[in-house]
Amino acid sequence: MEAKTKDLWVFVETNTDGTAKNVGIELLTPGKMLAEKQGGELVAVVIGENVGEAVDAANAHGAQKILVVDGPEYKNYSTDAYTYVICTLVEKYGPTSMLIGATNNGRDLGPRVSCRLKTGLTADCTSLDIDPDSGNVAWTRPAFGGNLMATILCPDHRPQIGTVRPGVFKKGLETEKQAVIINEKIHVDAKDIRTQILEIIQDAGDEKIDLEGAEIIVSGGRGVGGPEGFKTIQELADVLGATVGASRAAVDSGWISHAHQVGQTGKTVGPKLYIACGISGAIQHLAGMSSSDCIVAINKDPEAPIFDVADYSLVGDLFEVLPILVDEIKKARA
Ligand code: FAD
Repeated sequence: MEAKTKDLWVFVETNTDGTAKNVGIELLTPGKMLAEKQGGELVAVVIGENVGEAVDAANAHGAQKILVVDGPEYKNYSTDAYTYVICTLVEKYGPTSMLIGATNNGRDLGPRVSCRLKTGLTADCTSLDIDPDSGNVAWTRPAFGGNLMATILCPDHRPQIGTVRPGVFKKGLETEKQAVIINEKIHVDAKDIRTQILEIIQDAGDEKIDLEGAEIIVSGGRGVGGPEGFKTIQELADVLGATVGASRAAVDSGWISHAHQVGQTGKTVGPKLYIACGISGAIQHLAGMSSSDCIVAINKDPEAPIFDVADYSLVGDLFEVLPILVDEIKKARA
């Protein structure tokens, strides 16, 4: 389809209580830059039930227009209902590009919408810009197992769609609310929603690990040597009030669960402080943490690539360095 406007849309996914998931608000940050460069408006699309809080959050983070679809049939995400709503809105308003958070639901919604609209989708983007020659969105994402970064254009079809993982961009500061709010009445019949939620069972297997929202992360890699080694990592995390992360090598070895994995096939994180212990700094690990504000690396190999991205480099055995750090932090707090 042809774009009717130069607007950029951000799908602001909601929780069942009507609040916004962080990733939608984070995406308003690059969304603003792209919309300005495209010469259009930044539009947030909010779907759910009683979504006043999500609308407010989008308004406070720079949305110029907010399309709201509120109704009981949208309380829980369903592929059929959400795809129908987005496609109906796209056909009515004709945005030129759209960002979707790569949550479980976003990863389901993006491909379905792009297929229905016969356009392209670039998944799991790590940076976004406008291609200066063509004016298309330049979607950059890791390719070939993360060994190179590919920049992808979608020149022939609209809207251009991309997904971005939580934590890749940071939430902007709150600004003055200025959005024009448009309530759209779109109803989907229950019979047109082919899936039914019978019961929601909370994941009881693993404690909830909020790596994406963590301000401090202490991560361990193969260098911790085994599951016991993570006790040393946990001690530092405890004194700092930090969350424990891990490299894939540690996860694949069965030392810690996948919920802790940082990197291309784990979580993308952007804490204020990231402490990498016994992690070499493979590109797939860096892909998940290099946007951290401050990176401290502890590694006994002075040539380890992690030192290339570290703000503070400690060359040494983590089992000697970490207890000293823990003691010093405790002393400083006493
Ligand atoms: P290693 O590379 O083995 O490094 C261990 C480090 O510990 C070394 O630098 C060593 O000097 C140091 N060390 C050893 N003992 C000590 C000690 N006592 N004190 C201090 N330092 C010590 N990896 C991820 O992390 N996340 C991902 O999401 C991810 N996704 C991937 C996706 C694909 C498609 C592929 C192909 C790979 C992916 N990987 C990922 C794997 C990645 O390529 C690396 O293999 C992995 O990150 C290595 O983990 P590591 O740094 O813990 O282990």
